[in-house]
Amino acid sequence: MIYLFVLLVVGAAWWKQSLSLSGAAAAFAVGGITAAAFGTAGLVVLGAFFVSSVVLDKLLAKEEEDVEEKGSRRDAVQVAANGGVPAAAAAYYLVFPETAAVFVFAGAFAAATADTWASSIGRAAGGIPVHVFSRKPLTPGISGGVSRAGTAAAWGGALFTTSAAVIVLPELQLVHLLILAAAAFAGQWIDAAAGALFQSCGACRVCGQMTEKKEHCGAKPEHVKGWRWVQNDVVNAVSNLLAGLIAASAFFYF
Ligand SMILES: [Zn+2]
Repeated sequence: MIYLFVLLVVGAAWWKQSLSLSGAAAAFAVGGITAAAFGTAGLVVLGAFFVSSVVLDKLLAKEEEDVEEKGSRRDAVQVAANGGVPAAAAAYYLVFPETAAVFVFAGAFAAATADTWASSIGRAAGGIPVHVFSRKPLTPGISGGVSRAGTAAAWGGALFTTSAAVIVLPELQLVHLLILAAAAFAGQWIDAAAGALFQSCGACRVCGQMTEKKEHCGAKPEHVKGWRWVQNDVVNAVSNLLAGLIAASAFFYF
């Protein structure tokens, strides 16, 4: 029954063009493993991330996005970037039901929420983001930028999914709320820092705009910084993993 529910939600997201076909298959895998490990409670945490991201995307997305590589239709790679770490934690929990795995699961989803809220709300709020280290103005949408609205949204997203997790997952208590939210926020900061240091970025040969797209104004942009293979999905997956691990290590200390 619970798997039928996952299938229905994934099917609806695909129908509404929030997921591509490969994205839907990957989302069903993530939802299925989550349901098997944590039941309905796990799906509530996943849903806090996924539903809020999709709703914000639909509400705030502008018609044209010409800085970032991908649009709002998530494919398998994007689903894995945000759902891979929590799914791995859920799979681990199925075999070894340890509380630390619950922290990784919740921390990673909270970090994913912080990141999507920060980029959706930060972009919609407008204004010029600044580079995470140099504090110099940056083209909106280019990785490594932070803004006041984005930072506030990151805390909002982190607290939103963490609150859901603390309410529904029996292993988590109220004292864990701030630990998990702080770990998720740290993940968002790691995301910006890694984006600034390593993420591949180019400059359009036609209009000169900084872009992370593979094509701009019909031409292949000139590679200007970062490692070519480090795209946004890689940065997301790594920062979610680190947020989950920070949350789990905090669990051992508190
Ligand atoms: Zn251009």
